[in-house]
Order: sequence, then structure tokens, then C-alpha cells
Amino acid sequence: MRIYRWMLLAATMAGVIAGRELATDGSNAQGDAQFEVVILHGRVMDPETSLDAVRNVGISGGKIREISEKELRGKEVIDARGLVVSPGFIDLHQHGQAAKNYEFQSRDGVTTSLELEAGTNDVDTWYAEREGKSLINFGVSVGHIPIRMKVMHDPGAFLPTGDAAHREASSEELTKISEGIDHGLKRGALAVGMGINYTAAASHDEILDVFRIASAARASVHVHLRHAGLQEPTTGLVGLQEVIADAAATGAPLHVVHITSMGLKNTPALLAVVNGARARGVDVTTECYPYIAGSTSLESAIFDDGWQERQGITYKDVQWTKTGERLTAETFAKYRKEGGVVVIFSIPEEAARAAVSDPMVMIASDGMPLTGAKVHPRGQATFSRVLGHYVREEKALDLMTALRKMTLMPAQRLEKRAPAFQGKGRLRTGADADITIFDPQTVIDKATFEEPLQFSSGIPFVLVNGVTIVKQGQFVAGVLPGRAMRAPIP
Ligand SMILES: [Zn+2]
Repeated sequence: MRIYRWMLLAATMAGVIAGRELATDGSNAQGDAQFEVVILHGRVMDPETSLDAVRNVGISGGKIREISEKELRGKEVIDARGLVVSPGFIDLHQHGQAAKNYEFQSRDGVTTSLELEAGTNDVDTWYAEREGKSLINFGVSVGHIPIRMKVMHDPGAFLPTGDAAHREASSEELTKISEGIDHGLKRGALAVGMGINYTAAASHDEILDVFRIASAARASVHVHLRHAGLQEPTTGLVGLQEVIADAAATGAPLHVVHITSMGLKNTPALLAVVNGARARGVDVTTECYPYIAGSTSLESAIFDDGWQERQGITYKDVQWTKTGERLTAETFAKYRKEGGVVVIFSIPEEAARAAVSDPMVMIASDGMPLTGAKVHPRGQATFSRVLGHYVREEKALDLMTALRKMTLMPAQRLEKRAPAFQGKGRLRTGADADITIFDPQTVIDKATFEEPLQFSSGIPFVLVNGVTIVKQGQFVAGVLPGRAMRAPIP
């Protein structure tokens, strides 16, 4: 306790010195500033401590230095009266990892964007491409899909279309796949990504081996299940049972991605299995996006013969993202050959609501690269849609529970392997100053299936590592404070 007080005092003094040095100009600047940035009179909500009260927040050197009822003075002042001051949102599942995606995500309150489902086969290059150039924090898993594609020389772009989807691996190939995953973890990948439905010919032994490797590195395995939908014996439930068994047998933490597109109308049954496994000590978590449609590549194995029966849908439920048109048998064949992304209207509203309102289910966008004018809106608007539509309008869950599902819980999922996440997802002294400030009366998603490239509204301020990137609902020019979120490299 005494040590903690001294650290706090030292941190505050550092803040005072930094504040004085920097207190030169700026319309909001207060003379004799204590902090680089202060957020005043906001409703501070912290899911870890359950603090929900009007407080002032002092920030210097990228960290939260003080949360207090007393007046704080800063070089930069944010008036948060009437607004909620929350930890920045952490998105565990965003495939779009380009500058434009980060812009949309920041306006949706996301301060850390992670690609953990598909992942990469080259962890070092992936991080090098974003270091020093990113608006928000970023991170990646080592991906079983891209490694299998590389080892088996698959011609697919993002997802496999050849051998990596449709052929069992030889023993030499299995060795290379294992080595690739092990190497990615040694290079600081945050987790292991897997999409068994896309690598449908991967044997159950191959998948179990990946769990063994992940367990040794204390890495969570983020899995798109082997099966989705309602048709026995290939239901979402069967897919879930496979990986819960693997997690229980190996000790690897399991994270099931987008549980609603796996379970469809049977989503409540899948949630019951996840909750049951958790109650019996298996480390399993899950996530969802708040929409009635999924999205993926039309050329992928998801659309191999029998897809209508498996998913309970037909051509007209599938939308081509380049034009927004619904498909027919002819256009399905033509575009599948051409390759590209579709939106799939297959998730019942009751399934989306069941997952969004379950306190155990994290919120993650599954956002897509912005390749077409009619891409899925989820990558741009997931978080404001939960807060505006499901919390305020539908009252499907309370605000603190929603914030916990998008801040603390994703940080906790990763912090055993990557201790840097102990400083994320919390609004407390010493935490990283990733902060989202929104108006609970107006926050709402604007991106739709018709007009998906719209910024969310009602989120006037966003800070990343203590740097304001969105101010009064506008981007701040010339700031790129996002940092690599990476596991320690041994
Ligand atoms: Zn997926």
C-alpha cells in the first residue's frame, strides 16, 4: 500500500512537470496545468470497480493519473458534462486492418482493433506494416487458415479455395503447419486464430494439435467452428462440442467467434453449452455482433454444395457487396467464380438479441476490409449499435453490462498471455488513457446495409494512449498514437 502511494505521488508529480512544460497555448488551456489532458464533469463508468459517478480525469504521458471529484487543471480540457466517460472499446475481431477501417472504428468508440479469427502467417511483417502509422491500437493472432494456405499452396486470396479447404494435410504438411503456428506465437502473436469451416478437410487430430501448441503458449484459440447451422450431423452445436472437448483436454483457452452465425436460431442452445462448460471450469468465452446477417467470401468452402440446407437460406438471402444486389442461381455461379464478399441474411433477430443481452458474451464486430460499396456495416457501427439500439432503445441490457462486454472482458481474455492488456479496458489510475466519451441519449449506428460507409454518431471524443484523436465529433489532424498490442517475445 505504501509503495502504491509513492508510485501515485511520483506519477502525479511527473504529470505536474509535464503539464507545466506543455502549458503554452490552445483555446481550452488552463494556466498552471497539472495534466496534459483533463476530462471534466463526465459520468465516469468503470466496469472493473463498478464506479459510476461524476468525476474528473487527469491524463499525462499516455496514462490516467488521477480520477477525482476535485477540479483538475489541464493543458487540454474536455468538457464531458452529460456524457459517459468509458474505457475505449476493444474489438477482438476485425478483419479490416487498414487506415480507413481504423477511422470508422475510432468513430464507433474503438481504441484497440484486433484481427484474431483469421490472423496472419507472418506476425513480424504484419506488425511492421502498422507500427507508427496507426490511429488506434492494433494486434493479430497467428492464423491456422493462412498458415495452412501457405503450406498447401492454396490459390485463395483471404480464405482458401483449393487444397487448404478441401484436402487433408500430409504428415509433412502437418509438421509445417505446427511449426508455423509455434513460430508465430514465439514472435508475439496475441492468440491463435482458426476457421475450421473454411478448412473443412482439416482432420480432428490436426485441430487438436493446434490446441496443444496454443496451450503451451497460454494463448487463447479464437475459433470459427467447423459447422454452423441446423442440419444434423453438421450443426453449430456439433462444431462447438468439438472445440470444447479440445479446450478441456489441452487446457488451451477457447474463444468462439460470432456465436450467432454459428447457432442461427439454435443460438440459445449454444450459449447454454458455453455457460455450462464455464460453470464446470473450462476456460471458454464467446462473442457476437449485433446484426441479423453475416458476411464472408462467396468463393469459400462455406458455399460448397449443400449451403442452402446447411444455412437454411437461399440465393435471395445473399447480397453481393460490390453492388448490393441479391443473388440468383446465375449470378451466384458467376460471382463465385469471380470471387468477392457477400452479406448473408441468416441470423434471426431473436438469436442476435439473445447473444447481445447475455452478460457472458463479448461484443466484437467481425468487420470486413472495405472492398465494396455495400459491405457489411458491422465493422463501422457494431459498438454504437449495441449502446444506442440494444441498450437505449430496446433495453435489452443495461449500460454497465454493455460496456463490460466491450472493454474489460476482451482485455481479460488476452491479459494472461499479453500483460499489456492489464492496462486496457479499465478506467482507473495507472491504466492506459484509451478513453471513449459518448452521449448515452444520442449514441447510435449510422452505417446500414444500404449505406454502410457512415460514421457512428453521439461519440464526440476518443483518446488513444492519452492523445485526443476525435474531438467534438471530428478527427484531430496529424495524430497516429496507436500502438502494437503484442505478447512478450521470449
Ligand atoms: Zn468467421
